[in-house]
Amino acid sequence: MKKIIAATRNKHKIIEIEAITRDFGMEIISRDEAGVPAVEIPEDGDSFEENSYKKAYGIMKLCGEITIADDSGLVVDCIEGAPGIYSARFAAFPGIWPTEAEKAGDTDSPDDSNNAKLIRLIADVPYEQRTARFVSVITMVYPDGETIVARGEVEGHLVLEERGEAGFGYDPLFIPVGYDKTFGELSSEIKNSISHRANALNVLREKLTEREGK
Ligand code: IMP
Repeated sequence: MKKIIAATRNKHKIIEIEAITRDFGMEIISRDEAGVPAVEIPEDGDSFEENSYKKAYGIMKLCGEITIADDSGLVVDCIEGAPGIYSARFAAFPGIWPTEAEKAGDTDSPDDSNNAKLIRLIADVPYEQRTARFVSVITMVYPDGETIVARGEVEGHLVLEERGEAGFGYDPLFIPVGYDKTFGELSSEIKNSISHRANALNVLREKLTEREGK
């Protein structure tokens, strides 16, 4: 089993990453379990890729072990692709996008406030136009700096009231294509077989297999 440090503190993400990578021959250890100092890594990049790399590289530098990071979010078509990389703190600023000054904030907003803001912004948009996708960019950084990047997405539609208790974040509002239930209503097994995170981790697995074969 290869020990991999997870750069995130988000317990939901760690549980999903563990469940999806169970047969990858990797043991996922959270940064807190690994005793990584409680330093905040600024997520001030302009893309999921940049922020994912910053988190993975920053934590790898602190622990000297192979580190994996997930930067993820929800991209909603009818509001210019927002909240995107600002998904975790969408409710912390009044506009669709943060101003330059508001970008400096780094405190996540509660999921229900983020969901309430999203519902307010899309309330008048017909269902067929309420298309959205979750995006996850997983970055693995080795102590020698070698970096592997894997992106995954899942397409769906948004509903206007929270449905279901499972998952986290925007899950109760998101119906993946091919289903009639939200990620909040679907089982974790189903979410973990079709989600953006599952798709990204499967790409990672392919890249790791290719790397081992070299
Ligand atoms: P990050 O920790 O900066 O990557 O922010 C991720 C944010 O995107 C979370 O706080 C959620 O709001 C949202 N998000 C990412 N993945 C998911 C998911 O699987 N379900 C629901 N919301 C998600």
